[in-house]
Amino acid sequence: MTQAKFIPLALAGAILFASYAKAQKPINNSVATSHGGAKHAAINTADEALAELKNGNQRFMEGKLHNTNYKEDIEQTKSDQHPHSLILSCLDSRIPPEIIFDQGIGNIFVARVAGNIEDPNILGSMEFATKVKGTKLIVVMGHNKCGAVKGAIDNAELGNLTQLVDQIKPAITGDKSNMDKMLNETAEKNVQLTISDILKQSPVIAEQVKQGTVKIVGAFYDLTSGKVNFMN
Ligand SMILES: [Zn+2]
Repeated sequence: MTQAKFIPLALAGAILFASYAKAQKPINNSVATSHGGAKHAAINTADEALAELKNGNQRFMEGKLHNTNYKEDIEQTKSDQHPHSLILSCLDSRIPPEIIFDQGIGNIFVARVAGNIEDPNILGSMEFATKVKGTKLIVVMGHNKCGAVKGAIDNAELGNLTQLVDQIKPAITGDKSNMDKMLNETAEKNVQLTISDILKQSPVIAEQVKQGTVKIVGAFYDLTSGKVNFMN
């Protein structure tokens, strides 16, 4: 490598490091609410983030959404983002996390994949969220009547979908004589196995959970009511 090429690279490295170091400062994860103007409630802990998600789902259930002023959200988040939570949710089109938790723009990271399972790219995204952006809470959210879970139970085979549903199979529980119950129990077990896989496969996340700076919780969405139940 010539020196002329090396210098810009070194500069780029220094800039990257500076922006990373800046991200390590204490972060206030704010929730913008929009009733008659900007109002910020700082979210500094996983418990505060969890309370905000529970309140947001309650607002959604009651049809009293606060975070719908998207133009204001864009203005407030145009230079940076510090979402308080990351939601790993199913691909299902009936479960848009920003809406069901009333979080608008810039308040939550959302990773979606059929069957809400983890893989190295999802884990990398979680590590970025928590370590670089100060996200306090990771929610793994399953749901009833999940097509991906049904696919695992039915041994679905289709291109790349085959290996996706294979990853859900260790969660299969119950018997097909009561399919609704089997789907629910398997989906719930799948959430629990996903959480333990995250902790096993990401020392970066596991260390933050051990230190108490990040929490991971399971959740279950009911497609028929809009209610999110959090697991303990
Ligand atoms: Zn699903």
